[in-house]
Amino acid sequence: MHVNDNNKTKLHTGKVWLVGAGPGDPDLLTVKALRVLQQADLILFDNLVSEAIRALFPKSVPAFYVGKVKDNHSIAQQDLNALLVKKARQGLNIVRIKGGDPFVFGRGGEELLSLVQAGIDAEVVPGVTSASGCTTAAGIPLTHRGLSQGCTFVTAHGETELTLNWASLAGLRHTLVFYMGVSRCGMIAEKLLSHGLSPETPVALIENGCRPEQRDIIGSLHELPTLVQTYRVQSPALIVVGDVVQMASQLRAGPALDLLNQSCA
Ligand code: SAH
Repeated sequence: MHVNDNNKTKLHTGKVWLVGAGPGDPDLLTVKALRVLQQADLILFDNLVSEAIRALFPKSVPAFYVGKVKDNHSIAQQDLNALLVKKARQGLNIVRIKGGDPFVFGRGGEELLSLVQAGIDAEVVPGVTSASGCTTAAGIPLTHRGLSQGCTFVTAHGETELTLNWASLAGLRHTLVFYMGVSRCGMIAEKLLSHGLSPETPVALIENGCRPEQRDIIGSLHELPTLVQTYRVQSPALIVVGDVVQMASQLRAGPALDLLNQSCA
């Protein structure tokens, strides 16, 4: 039996908040995230926390960048975990803020586990994950009656090797959203095509979603690597695969690079 006793005596006065910043638009920050930021003694942020959100950090609170740009961790995960524990033991209220949702490809589980094991009071504040925020901003509903009865979020970046079941992913015939997929777009297209998806399956690349510089590039699965190359798509970007992508031309508020509908800007 597991008893979650919220009244147990706190060992330490400090607390760590693992906060999701959402994909970039400060208006997508939760009320709770803003409240804990305003009460923080120390803020630790990573590179996916947009400038517009960083501008909301209280000026009087020290805020430090703790990585990570792909393959260039500014601080190793174990060192960061140890820092969080140390600072919390000093009695500080720490906001560890990450892009999107901390529990979606954000290593939030690992950070929370190390805090729990060290007896540190910690709480997660969920955020809008990029798959949700960015597709919405691009006019792509993740599910849509008649087009897709579900969606799957997938990482294209494994810690050691990627062990995805490509036959299952291709067989789902619903929306697939790949995080961290830009540098592996060739492999993603090749695997999905070889497991039976049509070359004409609509795809969208959403770069810098929910930020002023957002770009949406829409085309077909067989041309995914060409799109990445032609438009020099950079991280952070999502790859969306599935029929719902067709909806963008009708639902997106602003212009998009829409190759499916031959209206390439
Ligand atoms: N925890 C985050 C995901 C971290 S993994 C979340 O819930 O969104 C990092 C990947 O997320 C990036 O490589 C990219 O694929 C995606 N991503 C995050 N923010 C993004 C944004 N604003 N626009 C497009 N993709 C984004």
